[in-house]
Amino acid sequence: MPSVEEAVEDRAACRCTDITSLRQRFYQLSIAVEQSPVAIAITDVRGRIEYVNQRFLDVTGYAREELIGKTPAIIQSGETAPEVYRQLWQTLNAGEVWRGELLNRRKNGERYWEAEVITPVRDDRGQVVNFVAVKEDITERRRQERELKLLATAFETGQATLITDAEMRIERANQAFTDITGYREEEVLGETPKIFKSGRHGPDFYQRLWNSLLSRGHWQGEIWNRNKFGEIYPLWQSITAVRDDHGEIRNFVAVFHNITERKRMEDELERQATRDHLTGAFNRRAFDAALRHAIEQAELDDEPFTLLLFDIDHFKQVNDRHGHDVGDAILKRLAERVANTLRTTDILCRWGGEEFTILLPDTRLKGANVFAERLRHQIQEARLNGLAVTISTGIAQYRAGDSTDTLLARADAALYRAKKAGRNCIVVDSECQPV
Ligand code: GH3
Ligand code: MG
Ligand code: MG
Repeated sequence: MPSVEEAVEDRAACRCTDITSLRQRFYQLSIAVEQSPVAIAITDVRGRIEYVNQRFLDVTGYAREELIGKTPAIIQSGETAPEVYRQLWQTLNAGEVWRGELLNRRKNGERYWEAEVITPVRDDRGQVVNFVAVKEDITERRRQERELKLLATAFETGQATLITDAEMRIERANQAFTDITGYREEEVLGETPKIFKSGRHGPDFYQRLWNSLLSRGHWQGEIWNRNKFGEIYPLWQSITAVRDDHGEIRNFVAVFHNITERKRMEDELERQATRDHLTGAFNRRAFDAALRHAIEQAELDDEPFTLLLFDIDHFKQVNDRHGHDVGDAILKRLAERVANTLRTTDILCRWGGEEFTILLPDTRLKGANVFAERLRHQIQEARLNGLAVTISTGIAQYRAGDSTDTLLARADAALYRAKKAGRNCIVVDSECQPV
């Protein structure tokens, strides 16, 4: 279509051309207008419709005869702000082109958005005689924009999310990602998630993750990462591969949340379930499990381990003379002392009352005896709560065929003999010679 200025020039030029070529030109333009993918309407100065093209009919659902002579009010939804029309007429009355977006209504009542350009057409004397409106249905565009806005809001306000390309280069990250990792989106764009590695997982871990991602398109699990400030923290992460129409991976989307607090609570619950409240030593249930596990291991690999059972001497007297609270304080201090002498693999348990067990993995009677002697000496020297406290200890080493009960019974028998022998001493289970 020619511009307004060109059309005016054309018209001037047309005066000199013969009527046949004028007709020819009119015919060409009418085809262009009729077949245009945008809706076109021409009104007189009072806004009465003189012409609409086919697209206009398709969009509105009206027949041509239903529109001719009417004003565009017929397709108004009544929901466009009056201010918009006021400004539209102001612009057109000033002889200027108006551009804007209007919410209209089809014959079937459906509402739709149109982007419009309305141009005043002048006659030879410069008088406005018509308006030409060219309109594009932008309902779909608006819907997509709205959807994108919605998705963008969901993305920004949702769980921490990271989007990478197929080579794992980061393309997008949201606010929750920044809140957890400390990195702003612009700091990580183009980087790969390698920058978050904590060093806590070996190559096997990442290999399994990749295998799952590539074969099932998904991986989820616990992972330890490092934040911008160097702190290592646990995450629950879910990674999904996004494929295109040809099945090629285009993106990876990782969604995660920090589970530090959850793990802390789990640890606390676990502690409460497995520890003795007064001393912090393992409780009997946890020790039983550890002992069963040690026996299973010993059956498998022949590794020796030893069990110590010790009991405070004359503790009843301590309670009687100094009160139960002092007795409790001594139990607590004693457990702390003992715990401080242990290796990380040794397990201390409050077996009951003022009786404790210690599981010494990888240890034979001889080593256990040295350890028990050191412990006996330390306790005797310690003067817990200002009082002289001593312990008697029985030691038994695991033998093939032992159950928890038989092993404990031998340690108990040894302890009994230690008490008989005068207390503050150690007796090694006689049925098993030191190796
Ligand atoms: P020995 O072991 O040397 O034969 O004498 P004992 O006085 O320690 O005798 P026994 O082991 O039979 O007695 C255990 C006493 O330990 C009984 C109780 O007064 C005290 N006891 C047990 N559990 C607790 C506790 O949780 N707190 C306090 N304060 N005392 C306890
Ligand atoms: Mg005792
Ligand atoms: Mg006792």
